Amino acid sequence: MSSTPLVPESKLPALGTTIFTQMSALAQQHKAINLSQGFPDFDGPPWLQQRLAWHVSQGANQYAPMTGVASLRSAIADKTAELYGWRPDADSEITVTAGATEALYASITALVRPGDEVICFDPSYDSYAPAVALAGGILRRLPLQPPAFRVDWSQFAGLLSARARLVILNTPHNPSGTVWLAEDFRQLWQAIAEREIYVLSDEVYEHICFARDGHASVLAHNELRQRAIAVSSFGKTFHMTGWKVGYCVAPAAISAEVRKIHQYLTFSVNTPAQLALADMLNDQPQHWRELPDFYRAKRDRFVQGLAASRFEVLPCEGTYFLLADYSAISDLDDVSFCRWLTEQVGVAAIPLSVFCAEPFPHRLIRLCFAKQEATLDAAAERLCQL
Ligand code: PMP
Ligand code: GLN
Repeated sequence: MSSTPLVPESKLPALGTTIFTQMSALAQQHKAINLSQGFPDFDGPPWLQQRLAWHVSQGANQYAPMTGVASLRSAIADKTAELYGWRPDADSEITVTAGATEALYASITALVRPGDEVICFDPSYDSYAPAVALAGGILRRLPLQPPAFRVDWSQFAGLLSARARLVILNTPHNPSGTVWLAEDFRQLWQAIAEREIYVLSDEVYEHICFARDGHASVLAHNELRQRAIAVSSFGKTFHMTGWKVGYCVAPAAISAEVRKIHQYLTFSVNTPAQLALADMLNDQPQHWRELPDFYRAKRDRFVQGLAASRFEVLPCEGTYFLLADYSAISDLDDVSFCRWLTEQVGVAAIPLSVFCAEPFPHRLIRLCFAKQEATLDAAAERLCQL
């Protein structure tokens, strides 16, 4: 009998581990200040942690309902109504998921059939493309140009073929920090109104928005929301990326399809965390209301810290990421520059080209400012020496 291990033909042959995993590992290896992978280096609200412990102690330790704990779905409906002027039905239109990542995967799997075309905007978050590929879809990427990274709507219209099925967007946008205007949603609606094209709106940074007009959600658009899935993440909002709790909001018929996938991906999301998050939304809404100011102060401090450097910092209207152009410092490509920066300078960052399919000729890196002041100051000091 042969003992040769079997090696499956990969369904995703071009993929390795994510850039976020790679850069965080490199940062650890070189004891660099880690501004690469997006997560805070400070803890979430102690009150929220205490609620989690309390619910565990009260025996809330068995399966949650497949769609999410009722009190959490109801609190999400309240928050949505307050923010976007429309209240989703908590029973049929809100689904709690294992982070935004699961919501995105379940949504793409539910909507995309083999041969369908999916439009996304590059730079785009890394989880979209593999999910589309596994569903048999074909990704059409519309490149956005720095420094503004805004959608050219006539270019977008030109990309829509008869097979177009889904548009994936992300606002506030990781990595560029660009925020869509209500006008962008109007343009999107104009382009797709007459066709059976769905919208997946990744809004995980909805509460980290500094734009003058605030965050324009797809849920605030009366027509678009009837064919849209909006995805959110509590990890960003409550500084608890490791809890992996998110949710999506979509019309009942679309939610029903997403739930068919969700119930066999994870079935349900951990119970005490959901109960604690419901308490947090109900009792401490000031947390998310104050989040823009909290992160604006961090952004401004870091931008100020980099003012004396040779980096050119791009505008940031949302997310906790800042883009910096290093053309004045180095001729290296962005991947090599990020490795060098981590190993030699002691600051880890993310290269922009990894978010793009087309060659990305710009010299841009992404720096995460979800960090304590001391971390930001120490990183800025090192970056100013270049
Ligand atoms: N979408 C975007 C744009 C993100 O930046 C992230 C995480 N940083 C996610 C989705 C995934 O969120 P979660 O950690 O809740 O799965
Ligand atoms: N979304 C986070 C980022 O953009 C990373 C999440 C992950 O590591 N998958 O940095």
